[in-house]
Amino acid sequence: MSFDSLGLRAELLRAVAAQGYTVPTPIQLKAIPEILAGHDILAGAQTGTGKTAAFTLPMLQMLHARPSQGRHPRALVLTPTRELAAQVEESVRTYGQYLPLRSAVIFGGVGMQPQVDRLRRGVDLVVATPGRLLDHVGQRTLDLGHIEILVLDEADRMLDMGFIHDIKRVLALLPKRRQNLLFSATYSEDIKRLADGLLNEPKLIEVARRSAAAELVSQVAHPVEQGRKRELLAHLIQEGGWDQVLVFTRTKHGANRLSEQLERDGITSAAIHGNKSQGARTRALSDFKAGSVRALVATDIAARGLDIDRLPHVVNFELPNVAEDYVHRIGRTGRAGSEGRALSLVSAEEHGLLLDIQRLLRRDIPMEPIPGFEPRPGQVAAPAEPDRRRGPPPQRRSGPPRGRAGAPEGHRTGGRGR
Ligand code: AMP
Repeated sequence: MSFDSLGLRAELLRAVAAQGYTVPTPIQLKAIPEILAGHDILAGAQTGTGKTAAFTLPMLQMLHARPSQGRHPRALVLTPTRELAAQVEESVRTYGQYLPLRSAVIFGGVGMQPQVDRLRRGVDLVVATPGRLLDHVGQRTLDLGHIEILVLDEADRMLDMGFIHDIKRVLALLPKRRQNLLFSATYSEDIKRLADGLLNEPKLIEVARRSAAAELVSQVAHPVEQGRKRELLAHLIQEGGWDQVLVFTRTKHGANRLSEQLERDGITSAAIHGNKSQGARTRALSDFKAGSVRALVATDIAARGLDIDRLPHVVNFELPNVAEDYVHRIGRTGRAGSEGRALSLVSAEEHGLLLDIQRLLRRDIPMEPIPGFEPRPGQVAAPAEPDRRRGPPPQRRSGPPRGRAGAPEGHRTGGRGR
């Protein structure tokens, strides 16, 4: 299957080819013709499936085919985080490079005025986080009364982050007649309710869950005492000669502290989380991509939607409280067919979390002690309990994260758009 059969115009095919993409991903194959036919869609797709192009390409085509409404935007993409908004708009510009369409990205944490200036010059398409978008509407620097296409990207994460009221406020500002595209990695009751109220006879599109794609990732757990994790991580990075590693911590404070400690160990490092300014986050990401930062330490929310290709190594410095987050984390490695390695540093206190993850994945993660870092007796990680894993996978994304130690970054702290 090639892109040529999807009904896309030559300018878009040229932009896709310029990216080196020759074969559409499953979500692109299914979603692009439906969107071009004008249908609403409800798509279950995670980051890494090619979902951004799946909605961006047909959206650009439809905007190009219809006359512009002066300076008011005709398409709106809502995202949960600033990073994702920036990346989606970057994709819009990449795929739209041969079409005369204008786009803007709107998110909080940066000055209002440049965004106001940009909007005043006129745009066809806006990519935004909900809070700042509403600020613009409130100041009358943006009119959403001409939107023809609405995309909710990572809708489940938007709900997790408490954006439901903002989303409803945005929906109330849109014209009734429009096309709606909803993308979500998971289907909770909340997502179903949102979809029911929003979508009009939607086409359902489901692609393989990331846990299937995760087969390309080799996963291993290293038992280690909590107090020796930093030392073990530095050892792994240095002995392995890793140039680029993404490290996950559960808390913002933990991310900062670990990043500073790695620097003291002679490993260039930067932390990325919701308390960092937008500028600092963008800088950390570009330094990491450019290779001047070896270890990028991130919280789950900050890492969500980061567009980093083919990372060879991802380390869970701490296991996430929600097993589903583990799947998102390890999805950062082994993309696009290249083998990746996901390592988890697991202390005795984290066994329950590891079991949850194994139940969700329906597979064991092998425990491999590293010589010199084996936990002392009494601190040894227990092996998986096979009979616990026969049951249904644990409930995903319902209620607050479980677990005791530390407050994970979440609800309204990370990437809140204002
Ligand atoms: P996304 O799921 O939108 O975050 O996309 C994941 C990654 O896949 C991005 O880095 C895209 O640039 C890349 N990508 C998107 N479509 C294709 C394709 N058809 N072939 C290869 N890579 C792709």
